[in-house]
Amino acid sequence: MAAVVATRACETEGCSKEAKLQCPTCIKLGIQGSYFCSQECFKGSWGTHKLLHKKAKEDKKDEEKNCMEKEVNTDPWPGYKYSGKLRPHYPLTPMRPVPGHIQRPDYADHPLGMSETEQTLKGTSQIKILSPEETEGMRIVSKLAREVLDIAAMMVKVGVTTEEIDHAVHVACTARNCYPSPLNYYNFPKSCCTSVNEVICHGIPDRRTLQEGDILNVDITVFHNGYHGDLNETFFVGEVDEGAKRLVQTTYECLMQAIDAVKPGVRYRELGNIIQKHAQANGFSVVRSYCGHGIHKLFHTAPNVPHYAKNKAVGVMKPGHVFTIEPMICEGGWQDETWPDGWTAVTRDGKRSAQFEHTLLVTETGCEILTRRLDENGRAHFLSQM
Ligand SMILES: [Zn+2]
Ligand SMILES: [Zn+2]
Repeated sequence: MAAVVATRACETEGCSKEAKLQCPTCIKLGIQGSYFCSQECFKGSWGTHKLLHKKAKEDKKDEEKNCMEKEVNTDPWPGYKYSGKLRPHYPLTPMRPVPGHIQRPDYADHPLGMSETEQTLKGTSQIKILSPEETEGMRIVSKLAREVLDIAAMMVKVGVTTEEIDHAVHVACTARNCYPSPLNYYNFPKSCCTSVNEVICHGIPDRRTLQEGDILNVDITVFHNGYHGDLNETFFVGEVDEGAKRLVQTTYECLMQAIDAVKPGVRYRELGNIIQKHAQANGFSVVRSYCGHGIHKLFHTAPNVPHYAKNKAVGVMKPGHVFTIEPMICEGGWQDETWPDGWTAVTRDGKRSAQFEHTLLVTETGCEILTRRLDENGRAHFLSQM
């Protein structure tokens, strides 16, 4: 149907009757004119007329793109020497509120995002043994964190911004009565970490659109009923090169080999030997500045779990311990540096880094992967693109 308008001449060639109709699509697209005398004339002109719509839509897209690029090219730190090609895409959207009925961790309302409960135990190497009730709390929160990561995984596509992924993560958390743990943790501004290419970890979701060939890690932690659950995976954006596939596959294998070794009596320092051996055998290096960690009522606590060989980590695994393993493996050197935002950790050589993470419960005979995937036989998402 076409909409009714005041007196004009029909735009159909050879027809000069009074126009009573205006093309509804043109109205919507803001195209001036497009008046017709009748539905017949409108239909008769359709073949050429519709090209106007196509042109208008293309123009609009270009305009939007230009506008976006203008906004996203704002470099917040002029003069900073980036190690690779990636740039921040500011301004960030404001911090998202969490509905009042959702239980908040202590740092959520601290002006500096400090966790008093974590600070109190800072420096202690004593590892908590969880009671059956606490263990159940960890099972539940870890399953919720897994659901949120699977939603993030579905969002990973060329042209999507990491902020859009963060928004979906935020909504998925609150829909499950979870507080997104990263939000305001030491003033981290977003609900998850998104780490692209040379970003090792703690990338801040922003306006940058994902590009074909990127590798993207999304790290999810959620807080529910007093417990945190933490996991991450690295995803392929569209088609990636063979180097990216080898790096991501090897990183995943590093995590799974380390998990295979988890059982009572094993020293935490042993995990780094397993991880580095496999990384090195494939020509990759292991990040040293960031480690796995104990997790339960606190986001980060004892044990400290380094991923590199010959580390001096303290502690022996016991049933009831809960901790993460989250190796960050690099194509080039292991050295890292941090952007002026105080969070984004990148490789010093600008080469890519990948990561996988699970939250684990030590059992009598081995371990339970609390954040395991419940479909697809537990396989990580990237494997379907290999
Ligand atoms: Zn994590
Ligand atoms: Zn973690």
